[in-house]
Amino acid sequence: MPATPAYPPRSAPRLFVDVELTDGAEVRLDGSHAHYLLKVMRIREGQPVKLFDDRSGEYLAHVTTLGKRDLILLVDGLTRPREQVPDLWLCAAPIKKDRFAWIAEKATELGVARMIPVQTERTQNPMGKPEKLRAHMIEAAEQCERTSLPELEETTKLDALLKAWPADRHLFFADERIFESGEGSFRKALVAHEGPAAILIGPEGGFSDAENAAIRALSQTVPVSLGPRILRADTAAVAAISLWMAGRGDWNGPPTG
Ligand code: SAM
Repeated sequence: MPATPAYPPRSAPRLFVDVELTDGAEVRLDGSHAHYLLKVMRIREGQPVKLFDDRSGEYLAHVTTLGKRDLILLVDGLTRPREQVPDLWLCAAPIKKDRFAWIAEKATELGVARMIPVQTERTQNPMGKPEKLRAHMIEAAEQCERTSLPELEETTKLDALLKAWPADRHLFFADERIFESGEGSFRKALVAHEGPAAILIGPEGGFSDAENAAIRALSQTVPVSLGPRILRADTAAVAAISLWMAGRGDWNGPPTG
């Protein structure tokens, strides 16, 4: 007896819509959403679409009306409430645009709650348009079935970031200089530091000595090593987030109790 196919089918398109969704609501889609559904997915009336609003959760909807450049969907019901991702921030110095977009995409997939671009002395590349970076984060959330979007902060100067650093948040400072000292075991740092956290990643040129000292002067700073090799900033970001998520995040199974 063939298994009953899952409904909605996993292949159902999944889109973020920046409107409050409710059961029975009608949603009109145009622009890039409509192009994607009409021209790429060749969607037909009655077919399901998964929508999420980054407010209340993910909903199942179906197409009621097809237009030339727009379509109308009817919301059938909530499928998953908006998730509470682990309380982890990524503070990263902008690098080349496409690689920084890659970091934003990966940070979204891996479950980061907030991303803060950090202006440092050796930052060579401006971050580019925030709306472009946000579009990458939305696409990544649509693809990885996230029901919440990470917050994207304005670019912040390093000294301003440190001055306003929250007292209760650990700052895991990825420092490529500490491996030899034996200081900076990420595993030990995770055991010792529970609670709200952030990861700080430098630009391709690294942090200056003065910046390194200023970061270390912050009592919430936890210097960590990502091993003996010098990683590219985007590799370092993904490695550090993954370590934190595996040790302190939501990768060890659904919450119990
Ligand atoms: N300036 C450095 C150099 O040329 O020696 C390299 C900087 S690295 C390309 C960019 C950022 O990635 C660093 O500022 C650091 O935050 C992080 N990173 C790279 N390798 C690391 C490692 N082995 N341990 C900890 N952080 C690392």
